[in-house]
Amino acid sequence: MLAGRASRSYNDASMGFFASIDGSVVPATEARVSVLDNGFTFGDSVYETLRTYGGRPFELTRHLRRLRASAGRLAIDIPLGNDALKGRLDALLARAGNPESYIRMIVTRGVGDISYHFERVQGPTIVMAVKPFEPLPDEDYRNGVRAALVSVRRNAPGALDPAIKSCNLLNNILAVREAQARGAVEALMLNAAGEVAEGASSNVFVVKGGVVRTPPLDAGILAGITREVLLELSAGVGVPAREESLSTEDLLAADEVFITSSLKEITPVTDVDGHRVGDGRPGLVTRRLLQAFREYAPRHCE
Ligand code: PLP
Repeated sequence: MLAGRASRSYNDASMGFFASIDGSVVPATEARVSVLDNGFTFGDSVYETLRTYGGRPFELTRHLRRLRASAGRLAIDIPLGNDALKGRLDALLARAGNPESYIRMIVTRGVGDISYHFERVQGPTIVMAVKPFEPLPDEDYRNGVRAALVSVRRNAPGALDPAIKSCNLLNNILAVREAQARGAVEALMLNAAGEVAEGASSNVFVVKGGVVRTPPLDAGILAGITREVLLELSAGVGVPAREESLSTEDLLAADEVFITSSLKEITPVTDVDGHRVGDGRPGLVTRRLLQAFREYAPRHCE
């Protein structure tokens, strides 16, 4: 936990932290999966992170589409349709009763015998967890945050494709730990070719001369849903946006830099490893896009 950021214990189930394990809702502290679950023994699982606006999940259908795409890449079958998954999530949100929730969905291959005998695995295991949503401090949006350009490279798509949102997060964890040790809230990662890829838990955008640019999907990144929405919204607010490979120089010479994610929305980055971005204040384009996103988000919850 970074100095100055509130830490909090989730030992108290009454704090709105609940889980659904294959459809049974329990306080998160009482939720259990088998130690033989492939998710635990091999990290053989995929996930989604969402948040609610007005108590409803933002862009749930897009998240479920990506969940299925990730699972499909690992040949994990999700036997439930979207309506059934939504029904489970609704029951969980109703039980938790939080004004706004953070939502995590995890699908593992299921319970195996600690071997690569996938035919023996009984699954999948479908876990959903919700807890009260804690927004970023408002000052992060007002002043911007510090990011670090870390030495850890993003996984090469030919090894472990970042497009698969897998629970194997060690690449991200190594990057974030390096960033936190340097006093940054997000790690910006390069791909194997040395191009800017993405944040450890966000997509990255630069603004130069009023034009927004973000690395293309073939840079080896996650197809972020906030990124996708932003690319759709930008034209409507008169901001040209392009998917283009970015160098470290593009990042450091940008007028504005921002990161996007379901939890961070559009967060200005005003400092990269002590290098001031633009004039060191969140820029006009970033603020205009954040405003457009915040108008869009509550109207696109399911
Ligand atoms: N890139 C990575 C590696 C992520 O883990 C995330 C989200 O957690 C994102 C990008 C942003 O994706 P989204 O906007 O769908 O939350």
